Amino acid sequence: MKRLSDPQTETEISEIFSSLQGEGPHLGVKQIFVRFGRCNMHCGYCDELEKMKEEHFQVFSADALTTELERLESEKGSHHSVALTGGDPLFYAPFLAEFLPRLKAKGRLVYLETNGTLPRELSEVVKWCDIIAMDMKPPTSTGDRPFWAAHEEFLKIAIRKEVFVKVVVTPETAADEVKRCAGIVKSVNPKIPFILQPVSDPFGINTQALSLIEKEILPSISEGLFDVRVIPQMHKIWGVR
Ligand code: SF4
Repeated sequence: MKRLSDPQTETEISEIFSSLQGEGPHLGVKQIFVRFGRCNMHCGYCDELEKMKEEHFQVFSADALTTELERLESEKGSHHSVALTGGDPLFYAPFLAEFLPRLKAKGRLVYLETNGTLPRELSEVVKWCDIIAMDMKPPTSTGDRPFWAAHEEFLKIAIRKEVFVKVVVTPETAADEVKRCAGIVKSVNPKIPFILQPVSDPFGINTQALSLIEKEILPSISEGLFDVRVIPQMHKIWGVR
């Protein structure tokens, strides 16, 4: 396996594929997914842990990745956008600053999926992003530490572009932490779409998480936000990756 020699000119990718967006307000659009290798977080519900192992990484230069995406675009037909996902793409911000200008020069729409915890890295690449799908991470959902200040700083930068905020809800999620996420969104711009996503398990949508959303979370965040939606993850239901 080739190792990363320069984090500015090369990156680690675990997979590249054409599929449908399975989450959030752009549900169902056809995208090329570029899955970056590593992540700065450790969420208990993460379904990408296996792909985040170094043995699955392929090293790409900015030129080689651009060429591969153009090849997929011509092989699979036109796509709505290129979804940068992970892991967390912003873990590789120096590389993105090399790669994204090339992608924009090809006329591609850039859809950034991120855990919303790396504001400095976002500020380095936000000018090349078109849509930012930002997660907020209540510690009772993830089992990781809180990122409140980072989330707020991140959203204040992301608001320059189209942005929506997504919160994954598990049966362990504390309603007051989701309320705190909603409070950050309200303080930045109450019109930002706020998506509640009940966690999925191998049997489908987790019904305890859905019930928690319906009974405790929605009533506690209903005031002051203009666009709250409950949208489950659809990949597993559609049987696509
Ligand atoms: S932020 Fe996303 S990729 Fe990273 S550990 Fe959490 S769920 Fe997994």
